[in-house]
Amino acid sequence: MEPFEHIDAKTVDEASRLLEEYPSKLIAGGTDLLGMLKDRVLPSYPELLVNIKSIPGLDRIEGDEGGLKIGALAKLADVAASPLVKEEYPLLAEAAHSVATPQIRNMGTIGGNPA
Ligand SMILES: Cc1cc2nc3c(=O)[nH]c(=O)nc-3n(C[C@H](O)[C@H](O)[C@H](O)COP(=O)(O)OP(=O)(O)OC[C@H]3O[C@@H](n4cnc5c(N)ncnc54)[C@H](O)[C@@H]3O)c2cc1C
Repeated sequence: MEPFEHIDAKTVDEASRLLEEYPSKLIAGGTDLLGMLKDRVLPSYPELLVNIKSIPGLDRIEGDEGGLKIGALAKLADVAASPLVKEEYPLLAEAAHSVATPQIRNMGTIGGNPA
């Protein structure tokens, strides 16, 4: 692994600014990214990892009249275990529960999954 800086972003605006200003990557649970850094499979190596787990409020799972809202930092395990998701969106709960292993589901986030 090559050296990199690590910053705990406090807000979405701060994370966005850091991404613009530096050769950087967001890090959430790190389940995919750290492996990619170790294996050096990214086209370019980031100088900075911007941790977004330090931004409050991004892990919410909420329902309203517009539907289901899942924050980018909601963990796969939390989506799978959410009473709201299990009751109203059982296929989503099942899909989240089917991902990988308990360790990955307890660290990996919804936002990091498609990225
Ligand atoms: C052994 C193993 C088995 C797996 N099996 C499955 C499987 O069966 N099915 C499946 O669907 N997935 C599977 N995965 C993928 C897993 O779902 C992801 O590793 C996890 O969701 C990534 O979340 P993270 O928070 O750890 O992301 P990180 O590793 O922190 O980040 C991954 C990528 O997403 C970016 N990123 C993170 N958060 C955001 C954000 N909020 N906005 C924009 N970009 C962001 C990062 O910059 C990075 O490029 C597996 C992974 C592993 C390691």
